[in-house]
Amino acid sequence: MGRKLLLEKAHVEGIRHYDVYRREGGYRSVEKVLKTMSPEAVVEEVKKSGLRGRGGAGFPTGMKWSFLAKPEGVPRYLVVNADESEPGTFKDRYLMEFIPHLLIEGMICASYALGSNRSYIYIRGEYWWVKEILEVAVQEARNAGFLGKNILGSGFDCDIFVQPGAGAYICGEETALIESLEGKRGNPRIKPPFPAVKGLWGCPTVVNNVESIAAVVPIVNEGGEEYAKLGTGKSTGTKLISACGNINKPGVYEIEMNISVEEFIYSDEYCGGIANGKKLKACIPGGSSVPILPANLLLKTAKGETRMMTYESLSDGGFATGTMMGSGGFIVMDEDQCVVKHTYTLARFYRHESCGQCSPCREGTGWMEKILLKIDQGKGSMSDIDLLWDIQRKIEGNTICPLGDAAAWPVAAAIRHFRDEFEWHVTNPSEALVRNYGLANY
Ligand code: NAD
Ligand code: SF4
Repeated sequence: MGRKLLLEKAHVEGIRHYDVYRREGGYRSVEKVLKTMSPEAVVEEVKKSGLRGRGGAGFPTGMKWSFLAKPEGVPRYLVVNADESEPGTFKDRYLMEFIPHLLIEGMICASYALGSNRSYIYIRGEYWWVKEILEVAVQEARNAGFLGKNILGSGFDCDIFVQPGAGAYICGEETALIESLEGKRGNPRIKPPFPAVKGLWGCPTVVNNVESIAAVVPIVNEGGEEYAKLGTGKSTGTKLISACGNINKPGVYEIEMNISVEEFIYSDEYCGGIANGKKLKACIPGGSSVPILPANLLLKTAKGETRMMTYESLSDGGFATGTMMGSGGFIVMDEDQCVVKHTYTLARFYRHESCGQCSPCREGTGWMEKILLKIDQGKGSMSDIDLLWDIQRKIEGNTICPLGDAAAWPVAAAIRHFRDEFEWHVTNPSEALVRNYGLANY
């Protein structure tokens, strides 16, 4: 059984509240950093830990922190991205809902390291009850003297504010999030400049995912080098995975990044195998934006090596035969699932969530949705499959923010690995309709 650094105490009775959290050893990391460490030393520990951003991009957290500009007399901000909206991803909600003080504790350490006196949690609007849980926890931390002026007599002032979004997926993109936090429409900005240089209200800002900031607590408590001993290669520490789809035990699991994909799917400790005794067909292991993989490439890489639950192994083979760790939203599909229908559902989602600023994304997502629906409903032609391929290629890399890529990649991977299924819809329209819609002679 792997070590649990984040969720070990998540189900201790009453842990949502300060008294129990503190009794269980909470806020030790804040005492350690404020009493014994300089801000630079905290950044150094996070660098040594090898922690990679847990939101999806996997960018090294310590490196991002070290990029933060520090112009004289200009405030700096920490913003926690809790706008978790990637289909299949629900691990941050779990963490905030069950052990909210872990996030607040990590935020205080990170705010000290970055010099942020006002730090924000931007939380997905649909997580309204989690916002209430967080607000209670923030107030408890204030009452206990862990937030406010001169925390623990250190001279460091810090407060935390919880701001809800209003249901737009695009506000999880860090610059759209900043626009929204400033009270504007959540349109992504062109990068560079990165938020580390010009972020919230034009000031240097670090935007980090919930899980990344929670991981700062064990990194401070145990030291960056100890943290880096868990996991393998450049995938250090533990990772939260939200598992869903056709499995026996959907839920949120904390894994050490040294287990195989096969173990994660079939072991009783995690997903418990495919539901109803069916066969595994495919999986999207990192949230809807990452490429789907058929079962054979999911369990073994194209080189025949065991596919591991690590950043490196999941992306081995690039997009030709690999995928990505992404946000850890692990969506499993059994043999009865239709890849065409599934791809259409995702295309509809991305078309709806596109902010409309760039033509390739605004127009391309709509075209992909329409063509996929046409094929799914048995009205498509072989040339539609080629057109679909062409459109996704014209979106990828040609947009302001990664939503364009995120819309293109699932379509590309579905055609790459399941072209025969697309062709079957074209050549067997009636059977496709019966299968996906229960309709004959539509
Ligand atoms: P990114 O690679 O553009 O950036 C990663 C982070 O590193 C950002 O914070 C960026 O500011 C910083 N960075 C990169 N280069 C920098 C530099 N030179 N100087 C300073 N900072 C620098 O990716 P992204 O747009 O942050 O994230 C995209 C990912 O988000 C996707 O891969 C997807 O998996 C994921 N995603 C997650 C969710 C979710 O709900 N968790 C939702 C949508 C997308
Ligand atoms: Fe908006 Fe799409 Fe362009 Fe992103 S890629 S800025 S979501 S139009």
